[in-house]
Amino acid sequence: MEANQIACPSCNSNNLTAKYEAKYVYSYIIDSNAPGLKNDQELLPFLYDNREQVESTQYIKCENCGRQFPCFFSAKSNGIDLNDLQKVLSYDHNE
Ligand SMILES: [Zn+2]
Repeated sequence: MEANQIACPSCNSNNLTAKYEAKYVYSYIIDSNAPGLKNDQELLPFLYDNREQVESTQYIKCENCGRQFPCFFSAKSNGIDLNDLQKVLSYDHNE
């Protein structure tokens, strides 16, 4: 493996994707018509009154073998670079 390449340590594939899973609770205030102050006739899911993120997880996933590597790529203001990615993939993750 060349120094400027990143690959899955399990299968050596470079088919890697950064995944960002998030869970949100959307709230619609009940009023005289359809739920949500911004909805009149029907509830349109994107016209919410409040949205709260309750969970989020980020990881790098190998699309070839399915192995996942925990990683917070949005934590650094300038993103993560190649060095960071190589570090993430080199950790010994026992599942
Ligand atoms: Zn793999």
